[in-house]
Amino acid sequence: MPASQPHPPTSPPSPPSPPLHPELPAQDEGLLYAVTQGEARLTSAQALELYHSMPLMELGRWADARCRAIHGSQIRTYVIDRNINYTNVCTARCTFCAFRRDGHEDDAYTLTHEQILEKIQALHDIGGTQILMQGGMNPELPLDWYLGLLSTIKQTFPAMHVHAFSPPELIEFVSFFDPPGTDLQAKLHWVLSRLQDAGLDSVPGGGGEIFAQPVRRKIGLGKCDAQAWLTTMFVAHTLGMFTSATMMFGHIEGAADRIHHLSLCREWQDLALAQACRQDVPMGHYKAFISWPFQRDNTPLGRVKDWMSQPEDQGSFPSDVVANLTGDGDPAAHELFGRRLRTSGSTDYLRTQALSRLFLDNFYSIGSSWVTMGPHIGQVGLQFGANDMGSVMMEENVVSAAGTTYCLNEAVLCRLIRDAGFVPAQRDNNYDVLAVHNELTSPDLQVSDWSEHRVQKLLVHTEPEPETLAQLTVGTSD
Ligand code: SF4
Repeated sequence: MPASQPHPPTSPPSPPSPPLHPELPAQDEGLLYAVTQGEARLTSAQALELYHSMPLMELGRWADARCRAIHGSQIRTYVIDRNINYTNVCTARCTFCAFRRDGHEDDAYTLTHEQILEKIQALHDIGGTQILMQGGMNPELPLDWYLGLLSTIKQTFPAMHVHAFSPPELIEFVSFFDPPGTDLQAKLHWVLSRLQDAGLDSVPGGGGEIFAQPVRRKIGLGKCDAQAWLTTMFVAHTLGMFTSATMMFGHIEGAADRIHHLSLCREWQDLALAQACRQDVPMGHYKAFISWPFQRDNTPLGRVKDWMSQPEDQGSFPSDVVANLTGDGDPAAHELFGRRLRTSGSTDYLRTQALSRLFLDNFYSIGSSWVTMGPHIGQVGLQFGANDMGSVMMEENVVSAAGTTYCLNEAVLCRLIRDAGFVPAQRDNNYDVLAVHNELTSPDLQVSDWSEHRVQKLLVHTEPEPETLAQLTVGTSD
């Protein structure tokens, strides 16, 4: 492993992983069949070859076969939750972010505990089971603000699952609160233990973006590096928590950067699963992987020129020259590295999602990001390796700030799943099924007039909502 590669703190004693067959071509049917059965795993080089050369529909068929081997052919799921972005004040300056504020602007905000509880009450009233709570990295909030918030939530809503604080926030907690400990892992353990004792149930995978450092340095100014991100999740796993992993692609990264990102997810998942096998205490792991394309509106990164829009844009995309499968490419290898965008459309999204299903053989769930791609590509995603349609939620503020406006209610989401050939089922954060909608009482089967269930704008504001807006809408969840 190269020195620059983020590395797990200990090596798994005997990875419970399927064998690699690097001698086989990526499109070898025997290899791919074995991958669908969980009896072989793809190498990074094979994954890159599939990305570049396998016809889209064929890649989708293999990913679908793998998905059906894990999840069967009947049920595809969604969750009812609410995305609460508790503050938009942030010390980082990610170039892809349209959400952050410095703190002095008129629209900078930090929600009070009371406002957050009101939002959870509204979710509770419609049968919601979890909150996804993430925010900016706000140096004004002390640890007690978080501990008090979690305790109050659990006292008021004991059954509400709290999925909160992505690794970049947790790393900043270490920086802001200066916890005891001789290294990052010990400090994270101290912070996460307290948050867990106060009511934190699991950790969302926000802030994954692209792990390769040349890309990360360009887009995630002030945000933690891959080693810190992955270490944070590992510490959460040692505390028995489940987490998710994410990837935001379709900007300045190369194709090899995406594979490198998937490879680190798989490697650290191996570690968590191996630890779980050899220790008595409960050990968590990644439950899900969700990827989505960069949303460019209102962002500094979105103003970067598109690749092939300028006369000097010749040959390979700059990041395909820089990127390699070990994530340590030389940014100087192409003078336009970071200065051209290659955004991702529907087919590239489906290709990437299908590949994630085949490559991440140790991940249970692959989510379809219809919020960014639109409901119908999200629906098609169920045939390209995804088993989950994400979240029915009441609010979203982050991707919507960058131009995403898709929003559906529960009935439409169920119909999308059913029309794709599956039975919709509501799940919880643990991916346990709460309700299988195969009866006439199902949300979609009770609708007689679909004209009232069109795609709506996401609910994007922080003040208490008028009654008329307190309805189910759908947004991203990670
Ligand atoms: S993406 Fe998150 S960490 Fe980065 S600037 Fe926006 S709010 Fe801050």
